[in-house]
Amino acid sequence: MPDLKKDVYDVTIMGSGPAGLTAAIYTARANLEPVIFEGPQPGGQLTITTDVENYPGFPDGIMGPEFIERTRAQATRFGTEIHQVLIESVDFDSHPYTVKLDDGTEYKTNTLIIASGARARLLGLESESHMMGYGVSTCATCDGFFFRGKPIAIVGGGDSAMEEAVFLTKFASKVYVVHRREELRASKIMQERALKNEKIEFLWNKQVHEVVGVRESGVEKLVLEDTKTGEFSDLAVEGLFVAIGHIPNTHIFEGQLDMDENGYIVTKPDSTRTNVDGVFAVGDVQDHVYRQAITAAGSGCMGALDAERWLENLHG
Ligand code: NAP
Repeated sequence: MPDLKKDVYDVTIMGSGPAGLTAAIYTARANLEPVIFEGPQPGGQLTITTDVENYPGFPDGIMGPEFIERTRAQATRFGTEIHQVLIESVDFDSHPYTVKLDDGTEYKTNTLIIASGARARLLGLESESHMMGYGVSTCATCDGFFFRGKPIAIVGGGDSAMEEAVFLTKFASKVYVVHRREELRASKIMQERALKNEKIEFLWNKQVHEVVGVRESGVEKLVLEDTKTGEFSDLAVEGLFVAIGHIPNTHIFEGQLDMDENGYIVTKPDSTRTNVDGVFAVGDVQDHVYRQAITAAGSGCMGALDAERWLENLHG
């Protein structure tokens, strides 16, 4: 059971990536004494990435986990309370809103800043879920090490797939990039890095039909399907990394908050306000366009300022 310091908080923040932590820094510095619930992946997606090279202020880059650790320290320095418990549901019927945690604890909050981010999208194959953790992975930085000297494949054509393919060449003997089209979605610079890497081979117009293997000994091969001809072929690899995008973590608010067709929370123009008063959405949970650490942090700042103004009206 978390040691909550209050019965009624002014600000509850759900999620502890760059968006949530920035919202915490701002609201803590405004003496609003926020509480953060970290979520299932404390620190968010940056904790499973390698170098962050495009966040201003770090000319030599910074490792994702270190960036999060420093931002977290900044949030706690100003009095943010952080708990490693999940928010199970929030009742918006009466204000202050009632937050229910997954250990059964309930408390009240005047505002809620949702910064729960997004999680890896999966191919949806039965064999993929069966072999997840046994040769199939969604996290190159977590699991790359296990494939030292082995051939592996990565599926996807975006920046994540390119970044992870290059990273995986540090361990694997060979990295196949399986992409369903013949054109990459990734930015030019990331494409170039992957295309010029001699350990990487691109397999165009292919999708994974089946992951073949047994849990005890791992992946043996993939059955690929040609997206143009429909032909099947085998690819002998010992691992598969899935890097095909993300799904927003919004399921607990289904039916309560306005969302788009992909489950992203819809915010009012030029703000982080949702359709429920005093509830704000920031970062990847409401952004399917930019999805960068810097835009998430900027949006976390906006959410904090919106919550602060909303509370000023409430408290008078
Ligand atoms: P993304 O840009 O949405 O790319 C997803 C890729 O997966 C696409 O190539 C897509 O194919 C493919 N895909 C989707 N569903 C698939 C399926 N069911 N089967 C096979 N392939 C499938 O996602 P992302 O690469 O995770 O990047 C997300 C955002 O983060 C982007 O804005 C990106 O710029 C950013 N990012 C930046 C960096 C960096 O700058 N260092 C690193 C990582 C991510 P199609 O192309 O055919 O749709």
